[in-house]
Amino acid sequence: MIMEFSDILYKPYFSKEDIIQLLNSDYEQRNLLYKYAAEIKEKYISKTTYFRGLIEYSNICSKDCLYCGIRKSNHNLERYNLSDDEIINAADFAMKNNYGSIVLQGGEIESKNQTERIYKLITKLMEISNNQIGITLSLGEQSFDTYKLWKDAGAKRYLLRIETTNQDLYKRIHPNNKKHDFERRVECLRDLKQIGYQVGTGVMVGLPFQTIDDIASDAMFMRDLDIDMCGMGPYIEHQDTPLYEYRNELLPRVERFNLTLKLIAIMRIMMKDINIAASTAMQAIDKFGREKAIKAGANIIMPNITPGKFRDHYKLYDNKPCTDEEAQDCLNCMEVRITIAGDQIGLNKQGDSIHFLNKEKIVK
Ligand code: SAH
Repeated sequence: MIMEFSDILYKPYFSKEDIIQLLNSDYEQRNLLYKYAAEIKEKYISKTTYFRGLIEYSNICSKDCLYCGIRKSNHNLERYNLSDDEIINAADFAMKNNYGSIVLQGGEIESKNQTERIYKLITKLMEISNNQIGITLSLGEQSFDTYKLWKDAGAKRYLLRIETTNQDLYKRIHPNNKKHDFERRVECLRDLKQIGYQVGTGVMVGLPFQTIDDIASDAMFMRDLDIDMCGMGPYIEHQDTPLYEYRNELLPRVERFNLTLKLIAIMRIMMKDINIAASTAMQAIDKFGREKAIKAGANIIMPNITPGKFRDHYKLYDNKPCTDEEAQDCLNCMEVRITIAGDQIGLNKQGDSIHFLNKEKIVK
């Protein structure tokens, strides 16, 4: 017997088959999917979108991921590393404009210097904000002790995308060596959880060789890991990377975008009270990409507050939006976007993952 779409949509627990059906939904069905995700969002976490000021503090990276524009072997870009003062100034801008939180993101470097530098920066940021600023880190794979040190200094959230959960695909989009090991990345996510971070992960959607089945498994992986936050975006080819070779075998960009939107809605329905980001990559494909994501269940937006002159150098993919703006322009534009999407803005609040807070209540 063929099930009606709505019979699947309102199930309390999705099987892999259900998720595949939802990902394959046609135009009418997907509107039902988005509508239901929006209802769940309103019911469990309210129609509020929170800001995270995104500081892309350095594009120096020791990794060589085959899809990423800031990979180590790309020599077609200028490398930069913001000074501590530049980072503090950007955070200061975020605070003055009532963003409750910032995200410190950069290439992946594991070194004693880096560990100490970030430790000192977190300590300083906590000091000048009177412990009021929510700090999210997105600095890749690190040792347990490094994660712990940064947490003790005051960082409370960590984003580490698993990128894809199909291990064969993972091997095809990364160099085949110890530095790019799927198991280690999963281990890092486990460490972060154990240390007590609010943990975020996510995947790219529409990678070469990726199937709908893979994306359904990605959703199940995130549910099984019981993550607190999620950031997903369409894969966008970058001309200075090895995966560019497969550009003609990809789904059309609009389809990659639609699949991501469906995955956002599915994650909202499956995990209800987690934080879900409307990623910048969505806007690289659709002018209203982030608004659409908010309407389909996302509740986090990350306005870029990296000083304008450096933005051009943090090009993970082609067509990255807003690289010619300054932070103030970005803020004005975001406020309009969120209001258009029908949400209110959670100013002056850190916007913790309700999912995480609820889990803590159960433990206590
Ligand atoms: N070094 C950090 C964050 C760096 S980049 C870390 O590893 O966690 C942040 C994210 O950008 C990556 O996790 C990846 O999912 C995404 N990204 C990189 N290249 C991309 C591309 N070509 N298209 C879409 N997203 C990409």
